[in-house]
Amino acid sequence: MSIHVHGYANHSATDKLVPFTFERRDPRGQDVVIDIKYCGVCHSDIHFARNEWGWTTYPFVPGHEIIGRVKSVGNKVSKFKAGDLVGVGCMVDSCRHCASCEEGLEQYCENGFTGTYGGDDKIGGTQYPKTFGGYSNIITADEHFVLRVPENLDPAGAAPLLCAGITTYSPLNHWKVSAGQKVGIIGLGGLGHMGVKFAHAMGAHVVMITTSPEKGADAKKLGANEVLISKDAKAMEAAQNKFDFLLNTIPVGHDVDPYMLLLKRDAVMVVVGSVEPLKKVDGINFIFKRRSMAGSLIGGIPETQEMLDFCGKHDITCEIEKIAIKDINTAYDRTVKGDVKYRFVIDMASLKTYTNRKE
Ligand SMILES: [Zn+2]
Ligand SMILES: [Zn+2]
Repeated sequence: MSIHVHGYANHSATDKLVPFTFERRDPRGQDVVIDIKYCGVCHSDIHFARNEWGWTTYPFVPGHEIIGRVKSVGNKVSKFKAGDLVGVGCMVDSCRHCASCEEGLEQYCENGFTGTYGGDDKIGGTQYPKTFGGYSNIITADEHFVLRVPENLDPAGAAPLLCAGITTYSPLNHWKVSAGQKVGIIGLGGLGHMGVKFAHAMGAHVVMITTSPEKGADAKKLGANEVLISKDAKAMEAAQNKFDFLLNTIPVGHDVDPYMLLLKRDAVMVVVGSVEPLKKVDGINFIFKRRSMAGSLIGGIPETQEMLDFCGKHDITCEIEKIAIKDINTAYDRTVKGDVKYRFVIDMASLKTYTNRKE
């Protein structure tokens, strides 16, 4: 029996999100059925809902920062049982046999991973060709793509760890940021604030690099040791050749040259925010001092679990503002304006207010 689900969807790029009911597939042996408690609001949800990347199909149900409790499990599920606190992030499927999948890097699946929303649903079993996300009361996922969430974490604050958290943890972990290193986090939003928390917890000397002194002061409360105001040409010059690592979370195309100059010899700047063209870059900044620039996309399933366990150990969650789902359209407008510290999270209990749903 397929599962009857309530959620929110939009039906064109210019429509608001409205209540929407749909079916999830009949759970297979390896599937976990999750009662969703909270879902974070990622900027990608908005890009998708408004078709800003050009590949959205409708109806569209966003949400890939999902926290819930296991409702039931199939007979082949070994990792989870009913009642477990779990998460689902940006992926619900991948080919599982390519070189990337075999290394636990499903986000780089050579055959393309299936996004939690708007992805081509290769498993099927519903009337829709695309996957539907976490702005809903129930999700069904293969246990391989379900994460265990430490019980000591606030579940609402943990929701954005599934995208904003892993997006910033993965590059810090991959490039082995460690105690004593000077690490710059560029930009203070949903991603940047998690970058500050993780780099601080890893023991680095954390520098918040921002245009805004006010954001600098906020970053210090989150664990930054210093603030570098990127509009201050003198301060930027004085900071050249000093950084072991830079995490660049600026969400739009920009001039990377002033930041490249901050790197020491052999150091790297990793871009995670700007999924669009950067301004042209000057090769001299790479050649001299053998600097490099790289990108990084979320994280694989094993590393996402490692990140959640790290958060459990260091008691790290996101700074959030909880909302009812009926306020999602206002939350989108505020997110676009940067008017949120630092992530909206939908309390899914608020879905009950508009419907007498049958379980
Ligand atoms: Zn996201
Ligand atoms: Zn693969």
